[in-house]
Amino acid sequence: MMLTAFAHDDDPARMTEKLNHATHVLYETGDDGIPDAVKDGNGEVVLGLCKRCGAGEIQLGQNSCVGHLMDTIKDLRVRIKELESR
Ligand SMILES: [Zn+2]
Repeated sequence: MMLTAFAHDDDPARMTEKLNHATHVLYETGDDGIPDAVKDGNGEVVLGLCKRCGAGEIQLGQNSCVGHLMDTIKDLRVRIKELESR
């Protein structure tokens, strides 16, 4: 799904640059758990919203995705709990 965004871009240097930047993963029509705020009456996604970091339409072009940081923090929390329970 993420790769479809790059498929039409055949400049290798630009593709590499894109892939190196953390990329937002947007909700698409048919995904599970799409917030009502970004759907129209037919359940189709009409607004951009990143399912990893929660960035909305306006923020998408300005910020790289921090979803991977959130995953890392979650992992660390789990690890800390494990250590504390010893
Ligand atoms: Zn994101």
